[in-house]
Amino acid sequence: MQENRIRIDSLEKYGVIPREELISLLSSYDDEDRAYAAQKARAISLRHFGNKVYFRGLIEISNYCKNDCYYCGIRKSNKNACRYRLTPEEILTCCRYGYEAGFRTFVLQGGEDLWWTDERVAALVSQIKENYPDCAVTLSLGEKDTESYRRLFAAGADRYLLRHETADQTHYGKLHPPELSLKNRKRCLEDLIEIGYQTGCGCMVGSPYQTCANLADDLLYMKKLHPQMIGIGPFIPHKDTPFRDFPAGKLEDTLFLLSLIRIMHPHVLLPATTALGTIQPDGREQGILAGANVVMPNISPEEARKRYLLYDRKVDAGADALKNQMLLQERIEAIGYEVVVSRGDYKEETEQ
Ligand code: SAH
Repeated sequence: MQENRIRIDSLEKYGVIPREELISLLSSYDDEDRAYAAQKARAISLRHFGNKVYFRGLIEISNYCKNDCYYCGIRKSNKNACRYRLTPEEILTCCRYGYEAGFRTFVLQGGEDLWWTDERVAALVSQIKENYPDCAVTLSLGEKDTESYRRLFAAGADRYLLRHETADQTHYGKLHPPELSLKNRKRCLEDLIEIGYQTGCGCMVGSPYQTCANLADDLLYMKKLHPQMIGIGPFIPHKDTPFRDFPAGKLEDTLFLLSLIRIMHPHVLLPATTALGTIQPDGREQGILAGANVVMPNISPEEARKRYLLYDRKVDAGADALKNQMLLQERIEAIGYEVVVSRGDYKEETEQ
């Protein structure tokens, strides 16, 4: 559609377009518009990162969670979730294998587990940084107070991933119980940036009750926040949550959003997520071709991978981590990209 091409061109030129224009774009785009955006987005990532894809080793440290997000399979009310918590020693062992396999970023993700006090997380982060001074540590452990974020940063954490989930107050209330607020989520993100973390926000695509206006507001919020990383993936229902009967987010919508994000944030670190690889076998490769430049293979021990189930049929939950990684690497090479062994920090200047 001619109007949509013009909107995409303006996004590239100005980095943003008015909200009403974004809403029109998101509610009327077709396959050709998607291809047009993907081609632009891909050219931008090639310009800034070459044909390189950064690998991050994801370690799922605990599926205990004190929160009750309606979409999430590890919410506290899910009595069917088989809970586990890795010990610091098990996590250090994962890092050792991960380091040998070439990873230079470890992402520690988990539910909001009260056992993992600031003191314990800080000790673990310091130990990882001591063992592997050339590696970056990314935390994704949910909402904390300002002081806790400071403490973990002081212990050596480099990056923090905290999706804002939705930038619209009313929509936020439909996805979360009343004790969680968008206001606090945003406060956390502002703190993280202020403290000096390379910070990631993001949202699910196709989450229940999401409208095109919500997605437009997500894009505008991301633009304003100016994070170093943005994580998006399709919503996928989990059978033991209140959202079990909602449909999954669509591959095409997620790919289009990835492209728009790349066009609006040329330097951002943008993963092709596990959820994308779950709704479609080659979803992550398609994500890279739509402008993503990061993948996060799961390097958790098998027992943990089987139990850290945010949604149904998660890809790679079973087989051997190293085998999964090799297969993913081959598939990425097959589309003409190269997997790089480096910390892959955020930079505003172009690498190539
Ligand atoms: N406790 C941490 C980590 C949450 S899990 C935190 O609060 O940040 C990481 C992300 O998985 C979430 O931010 C959410 O966007 C995504 N997620 C959770 N349930 C999902 C589902 N059913 N489908 C797709 N993504 C989901």
